[in-house]
Amino acid sequence: MSDFDFDLFVIGAGSGGVRASRIAASLGAQVAVAEERYFGGTCVNVGCVPKKLYSYAAHYRDDLEDSRRFGWSSQDLGFDWGTLKANKDKEINRLNGIYKSILDNNGVTVFEDRARMLGPNLVQVGDAQFSARYVLLAVGGWPYIPEYTGSEHAITSNEVFEMEQLPSSMVVVGGGYIAVEFASIFSRLGVDTTLLYRGERLLRGFDADVRDLISSEMGDHARLILSDDVEHVVKENNSLRIHLKSGLEIEAETLLSATGRVPLTQDLGLENTAVKLDERGAVCVNEEFQTAEPSIYAVGDVIDRVALTPVALAEGQWLAGKLFGSPARDVSYHNIATAVFCHPNVATCGYSEEKALEAGLEIDVYVARFKQLKHRLSGREEYSLFKLIVEQSSDRVIGAHIVAPDAGELMQGIAVAMTAGATKAQFDATIGIHPTLAEEFVTMREKRVSRET
Ligand code: NDP
Repeated sequence: MSDFDFDLFVIGAGSGGVRASRIAASLGAQVAVAEERYFGGTCVNVGCVPKKLYSYAAHYRDDLEDSRRFGWSSQDLGFDWGTLKANKDKEINRLNGIYKSILDNNGVTVFEDRARMLGPNLVQVGDAQFSARYVLLAVGGWPYIPEYTGSEHAITSNEVFEMEQLPSSMVVVGGGYIAVEFASIFSRLGVDTTLLYRGERLLRGFDADVRDLISSEMGDHARLILSDDVEHVVKENNSLRIHLKSGLEIEAETLLSATGRVPLTQDLGLENTAVKLDERGAVCVNEEFQTAEPSIYAVGDVIDRVALTPVALAEGQWLAGKLFGSPARDVSYHNIATAVFCHPNVATCGYSEEKALEAGLEIDVYVARFKQLKHRLSGREEYSLFKLIVEQSSDRVIGAHIVAPDAGELMQGIAVAMTAGATKAQFDATIGIHPTLAEEFVTMREKRVSRET
């Protein structure tokens, strides 16, 4: 008989929290979860899943346009935002239910309320208090909007999924995942879209060839303003006048701020514990996801390590196994493949050329940039990019980058090969699938001189 009400009390039923709860409960632990907002967290409700649905919707425009030179006489079918939004809501509700039932079916006690820490082993939920041997903070992150006059008129990736009407014009601020994805989506859905980024090239941290290509592809569909930023915003009747630092002014119906996310650690009662936060407000943890308070752990976006759903899942799974007697292989942050669902998609795994050079590695670089077969007929001016970074000493492929339709689908298999330590010689020995885009990875023979050598 435990001295505590629960063996594990999880705060937050997002990707990491639900996975940890389910695994812990399946290992015999008494588990409780408190969730004040929605089951499935950001990913299911205001992130990956609804964004991907909107991205599919946006792709139909390209498909309809492309079909003409393949003989289809596609008429303008018209686009109804209300239909998309209603069907998206239905699917998200279904997924919410699935997440909730995963918890119920595993015997997890669910509190649909806010939880706060009262002490290292004491959690308050509403008026009740519960003791727990371990507490897991899995509260995720929240969109951040920079402060400027009129910033209250900006919406974020939270509100964008609630828009009842499709605006006629939109300014998207930022140059990261969310900005680039939404600028792609809304420009394809017929919104007069401007992407405004303070840097010189979109997608900081990605390989420079990818960044160059995406910046130019983006400029074909949205108005791209680089090296500039919002100075202040004035609301005028039904539109916003957005004043930029350069002096430029843009009028738009909607201003979407995609300027990063911050860990959601306010008002969690952490001052009643020894938990430490870093300068961004993220929970500091050791390699075992343990905070400075030994009974309290944290996983997912709140630890600000790698803000990706599959990473939170892996962390939650590992931790539950560790705490309740079924230790798994350590979570590896090496070779995490990721995709940006802009148009065309971007996917990446391992080192960029720049990062490899910065790390002092001697590398060979293989790049193919081309117009895919489909667009030879469709006439679309869209280019694809495949790039491999190979470590000279080991011949191992240490970086792979794709700009192409369904790049994420293509990259997952490459990530397996990279995790297995595949060499360039093994890529070369692999017979291609013809005609595909992905065969490019096994047919790249010509080295390119590295950019900075
Ligand atoms: P990112 O960190 O990717 O991008 C934030 C952008 O906002 C950057 O371009 C940054 O500029 C800019 N920015 C930050 N602060 C300011 C400021 N004060 N003024 C103007 N611009 C600013 O964050 P996102 O919000 O796009 O996404 C958050 C995280 O969520 C991602 O890092 C990713 O881990 C995850 N995510 C993953 C997705 C996927 O897997 N497909 C999709 C969406 C999100 P600068 O580059 O100059 O710093």
